[in-house]
Amino acid sequence: MIKIKLFGVREDEKDIAKDWAKENHVDVTFSEDILTLETVEQLKGFDAVSTQQTGRLDDRIYGRLHELGIKQIAQRSAGIDMYNLDKASENDIIISNVPSYSPNSIAEYTVTSALQLIRKTHLIEQNVNKRDFRWQKEIMTKEIKSLEIAIIGTGQIGQITAQIFNAFGAKVVGYDLYPNEDVRHYIDYKESIEEVVTNADIVSIHMPATKDNYHLFDESLFNRFKDDAVFINTARGSIVDTKALINALDSDKISGAALDTYENESTYIPKDFRSTDIQDPILIELLSRNDVIFTPHIAFYTSTAVKNLVEGGLDAALSVITTGSCDTRVN
Ligand code: NAD
Repeated sequence: MIKIKLFGVREDEKDIAKDWAKENHVDVTFSEDILTLETVEQLKGFDAVSTQQTGRLDDRIYGRLHELGIKQIAQRSAGIDMYNLDKASENDIIISNVPSYSPNSIAEYTVTSALQLIRKTHLIEQNVNKRDFRWQKEIMTKEIKSLEIAIIGTGQIGQITAQIFNAFGAKVVGYDLYPNEDVRHYIDYKESIEEVVTNADIVSIHMPATKDNYHLFDESLFNRFKDDAVFINTARGSIVDTKALINALDSDKISGAALDTYENESTYIPKDFRSTDIQDPILIELLSRNDVIFTPHIAFYTSTAVKNLVEGGLDAALSVITTGSCDTRVN
């Protein structure tokens, strides 16, 4: 029987994987560990591996997988920035991802974050918790309908986010390296990233992390924002210079940020730090601020998305074993 090992597995994935294993007559084994130079040794006797890495994979793992006779790594997420694709190819390792598991989950969460920031629900909640029920200027808010929303990266998630904001009656402007002609009737494309942020009340990013967009959102780009704008990042932390973002908040250039991703998140997410001190001063600062809503890379986390991720990873792993490749190969 084919044997697949699932690394980085959570409780909520297990039943889905067990059902898949039964249906496909495959032996699926679980490990809560992520794939490291030490844990790779657990793969002796297995045919394939699926994992959900968040941090960079050690380059030496590809060679060791090759020696163990494993031909692939099936990542159970869309992001592939944790892999060295050239090193993987040199060692005949096929890397696959699950490119589209539920763009709605992330788009809906993005809009939820925007509503929280604009309608100041976190501040209202804090007041109510203190039994302060007054209507005050600090918690008076704007209508989404009256706002301009900048969507940067108009792929699957960006497009759905734009559609939802459109349904509110808001004006949606967009920027993408490759604008999509089919969405021009509801996204007003601008020529540059500087232009798209200029008049936007909400700036929301939906592009992948690449070597070209590291810290793209830096001091000079935040300075181009409209005063009082809010910034939403449900894409990738490395796109944003977090210190520059904090400075933009401190100087009241922008009025709030919702961050579902953070450039140094891999040490902390998704882990339990209730009894352990956080050592990262920038993360401590983000968590302590009233004008930042920080969440643990959770925009994707719906039952639909988790099912598609588990099944997508296992399908890819099985396809490489039985056919030598898979539709979701990225190298
Ligand atoms: P996609 O590939 O469908 O769309 C990405 C778009 O970004 C493309 O149209 C591309 O041309 C554009 N783009 C790339 N670089 C750009 C740049 N420098 N400037 C402007 N546009 C650029 O991807 P998607 O499925 O819509 O996902 C978007 C991102 O959302 C992912 O890459 C991932 O980082 C993030 N994501 C986050 C979560 C979460 O839980 N927070 C979950 C899934 C995906």
